[in-house]
Amino acid sequence: MAAALEVQGIAKSYGGVAAVRGVSFAVQPGEIVALIGPNGAGKSTCFNMIMGQIPVDDGVIRIFGQPTTGLPPRAVWRRGVGRTFQITATFSSMTVAENVQVALLSHRRQLSTCYKFAGAMARDEAERLLDLLGLKAQAGRACGELAYGDLKRLELAVALANDPKLLLLDEPTAGMAPKERVDLMALTTRIARDRTIGVFFTEHDMDVVFEHSDRVMVLDRGALIASGPPQAVRTDPKVRAVYLGEGFDDAGGREGDER
Ligand code: ADP
Repeated sequence: MAAALEVQGIAKSYGGVAAVRGVSFAVQPGEIVALIGPNGAGKSTCFNMIMGQIPVDDGVIRIFGQPTTGLPPRAVWRRGVGRTFQITATFSSMTVAENVQVALLSHRRQLSTCYKFAGAMARDEAERLLDLLGLKAQAGRACGELAYGDLKRLELAVALANDPKLLLLDEPTAGMAPKERVDLMALTTRIARDRTIGVFFTEHDMDVVFEHSDRVMVLDRGALIASGPPQAVRTDPKVRAVYLGEGFDDAGGREGDER
């Protein structure tokens, strides 16, 4: 079976600065893989190249065996990819115009008119997804009233509506309280394993990384310096040297480092 995600030698420079230099790896269906590294290591650049938001200078990206290098995000999304963002604000499956249209219709109290036609569409599926994410009791509330943790779960529900076989999560627990972080990742990994979804995520919280990934990859100055099971990576001298002085230790890991 083809890998959910296969990346071969991707590279990106900004001016004279090599942000990502020849990174290669694969994520199998149902596998949970974390990408970590200090600030400026190239995590976001890697992530955005895979998602089609920035073009690669070199290398190939395949999703379920099909090359996606050079495709725009919407086309990548159509290949069965779900993604979430560090800042939750939009419906990723809608166009920019549709996002604004929905906001305008809501502002003019015209959404209900639109819903005379659309309200019954996909309602059962939506309920099943909300149930899966523990959001059924919140279904009728305005998103603006939701607690941050609920918003993150809503974002995951929206991503799952695309029935993805690959989930790309950019710091999925950023801005959440420690207990909420662990809960959200536990839920995400349970759903991913149940549905054989490959998950590729970047994350600053080392507790989340080491508890929930099958494999951890470490990026330093644009290159992968380690890849393996959490315990092996945690004790790898090269990795420890990169995180030296940042509280990356056997007891748990590094907190903070938020942007
Ligand atoms: P990380 O996500 O690991 O913090 P980034 O991918 O954001 O790392 O950045 C990697 C390197 O590329 C850094 O040196 C950063 O300054 C540089 N960089 C990232 N984006 C740009 C950009 N748009 N223009 C110039 N340099 C950039």
